[in-house]
Amino acid sequence: MAFNLIFLGPPGAGKGTLALRVKDMLHIPHISTGNIFREAITAKTPLGLKVKSIIDAGKLVDDDTTVALVKEYFAQSGMQAGYILDGFPRTIAQADALALFSTVTHAVNFDIEDTVVLERLGGRRVCRSCGFNWHASFNPPKQANVCDKCGGEVYTRDDDKPEAVQKRLLVYREQTAPLTAYYRAKGLLVDIDANGNVETILTHFKKALNL
Ligand code: ADP
Ligand code: ZN
Repeated sequence: MAFNLIFLGPPGAGKGTLALRVKDMLHIPHISTGNIFREAITAKTPLGLKVKSIIDAGKLVDDDTTVALVKEYFAQSGMQAGYILDGFPRTIAQADALALFSTVTHAVNFDIEDTVVLERLGGRRVCRSCGFNWHASFNPPKQANVCDKCGGEVYTRDDDKPEAVQKRLLVYREQTAPLTAYYRAKGLLVDIDANGNVETILTHFKKALNL
């Protein structure tokens, strides 16, 4: 059976971190709309120029742009064996659009308190090359700006600044949180406790999916 997974949950819930582990475990592609947007911003492509100020402010990119981007990935090969969609869908309109080109098998909902999220995002440092999430206090790289895994540059995302974080949490509550009820109604929601380190969360994930 293919695992067509979407990862739902507030910013800082650990979706990206867990996705890298699940990707290796199940050998399925990991598509992070946030990572794709950030790469476009770094490369200064037309998409990057269009979305930079929106993302830095903690707002959502419009549904048409985002859906078109994800659809492009689905047109490529390699998605038949399953996938992890991390950060998409983020609105009901995106979920409805997704349903027209792929059938989700599990909506994995990361359950976590805002206080934990704020602590994690405040110290988050991201590798520009491999996407690994470090943390200034909990899991720092040996050298502040260099990724231990790949030697890439480790930096602080502009949208991890306090004002943007508040905005992202608000946007999450208003626009994305309703997706839990949406997928629950379809019988696809899988809640996992997102407290603790990635090993602990991976254990919860495997148990919830009978892996
Ligand atoms: P987070 O840590 O908030 O989960 P992501 O890396 O998933 O961050 O996304 C970063 C930003 O990229 C979001 O705050 C938003 O501006 C934009 N973005 C990512 N995915 C989507 C989406 N599906 N729809 C609209 N905007 C998105
Ligand atoms: Zn790296």
